[in-house]
Amino acid sequence: MTSMSGSYPSTKLLIDGAWRDGVEGKSIDVVDPATGDKIGVVAHATRQDLDAALAAVDKGFKVWSGTSAYERSKIMRKAANLLRERADAIAGIMTREQGKPVAEAKVETMAAADIIDWFAEEARRTYGQIIPARVPGVMQMAIKLPVGPVAAFTPWNFPINQVVRKLSGALAAGCSIIVKAPEETPASPAELIRAFVDAGVPAGVVNLVYGVPAEISEYLIAHPVIRKISFTGSTPVGKHLSALAGQHMKRATMELGGHAPAIVFDDADVGKAVKVLAASKFRNAGQVCVSPTRFLIQDGVHDEFLDAFTAAAQSIKVGNGLEEGTQMGPLANERRVSALEELIADAVAAGADLKTGGRRIGNKGNFFEPTVISNVPKTARIMNEEPFGPVAVFNRFSTLDEVIAESNRLPFGLASYAFTGSADTAQQLGLRIEAGMTTINHNGLALPEVPFGGIKDSGHGTEGGSEAIEAYLVTKFVSQSV
Ligand code: NAD
Repeated sequence: MTSMSGSYPSTKLLIDGAWRDGVEGKSIDVVDPATGDKIGVVAHATRQDLDAALAAVDKGFKVWSGTSAYERSKIMRKAANLLRERADAIAGIMTREQGKPVAEAKVETMAAADIIDWFAEEARRTYGQIIPARVPGVMQMAIKLPVGPVAAFTPWNFPINQVVRKLSGALAAGCSIIVKAPEETPASPAELIRAFVDAGVPAGVVNLVYGVPAEISEYLIAHPVIRKISFTGSTPVGKHLSALAGQHMKRATMELGGHAPAIVFDDADVGKAVKVLAASKFRNAGQVCVSPTRFLIQDGVHDEFLDAFTAAAQSIKVGNGLEEGTQMGPLANERRVSALEELIADAVAAGADLKTGGRRIGNKGNFFEPTVISNVPKTARIMNEEPFGPVAVFNRFSTLDEVIAESNRLPFGLASYAFTGSADTAQQLGLRIEAGMTTINHNGLALPEVPFGGIKDSGHGTEGGSEAIEAYLVTKFVSQSV
């Protein structure tokens, strides 16, 4: 990470403690989604680089798993503090490569520091058990050990946050790691990793590569050095990587796509629901796996809610994320613009009403209007596929059973949102919605100390809360006689 292009750094690989280009000297261009201009490059790892990273992560595991949890925890906290000190500069870098408003990028960076602290604390609590023996003089112990070197694959929507949960969980448990971070947003995750290097993580413990995702994942997952994989991205890719992991008997955590229902009942505080759900929907231009997508509004408040939400969508200031006052930046890449145009055209052709938005803005950068569509038939693609963009899809419902059936109709099961004044309704939703996470009357998702993960096609495993470190631990039984 030495050369600069404007204020945006070009990104190197980190292998065995050294920041360097790939052996073959190849690189990939990085583009600013707000302007379409090339702003830098990221080094491209090929087979020789991956072999070097594998040798390093193997060596790093021996060093780090032999480092006490107390010491690991101290280094992790130091990295968290470095990240906080550098948050303004890192946020600017993230906005250049990803597009989100710089205030959101700073929140992501500061939240990453909190996540590191949480896992640093958990590092010292990987308790085992003493199990009463049948025979006098025998001590039976279940102890927790690090699973081994980890390979992590992360996407471009939260360039730092998607890495930090995997990296911190692995390091807290005593694992070494190779991170394959996103080629489209490479510099901000490299800054996260740099904080760990500067905090004193030994060479080889953390390695960072970029390249062709499918080539890297196929090589690393199959390699005997790697013992555990963690992936965040789309469901089809997650299924493919899970199959590979199964073939090679590797542990896997999968954080995949969602299609979150956002349910508003007649007895809800409609004003609060509009405010919370509009903020959640348009954050990061809707490119969020837990973004509310299917808005299911009860008959009595449907029109009032739809009108107020549409007005909220129209009031959002879209622009370059570096400009003061921007509330929503461009989409992170051109693929999202065409995907959204297709999904919206399909919904309208199926009979949906376009209440606002629906088009790209201008012809420079990937700007897209905050969009609301209503009366959307269940057969429309957008009612079945994750839009991953700033589109809210509205339908009405009458009864609790009906809305639970609709919520559970899809194979996804990640986040779900509901607003109701009834404690009974709230309890039923909490129990009956098939999702990894349900948040009622506010948005309480994604804090470090609470579970974060999906069920069904949204994946398995959690990347938050006290269970998250388990993904990086194995249980070893030791029976010892005098
Ligand atoms: P994609 O499915 O090709 O890629 C998604 C992510 O997976 C990217 O980071 C990509 O580099 C990575 N990836 C793809 N193939 C891989 C492989 N074989 N091995 C390892 N990594 C691989 O598509 P995309 O256009 O980047 O994103 C489109 C869809 O992905 C979105 O519509 C959304 O559903 C999903 N997505 C989900 C998240 C999330 O937070 N769960 C984040 C980004 C994208």
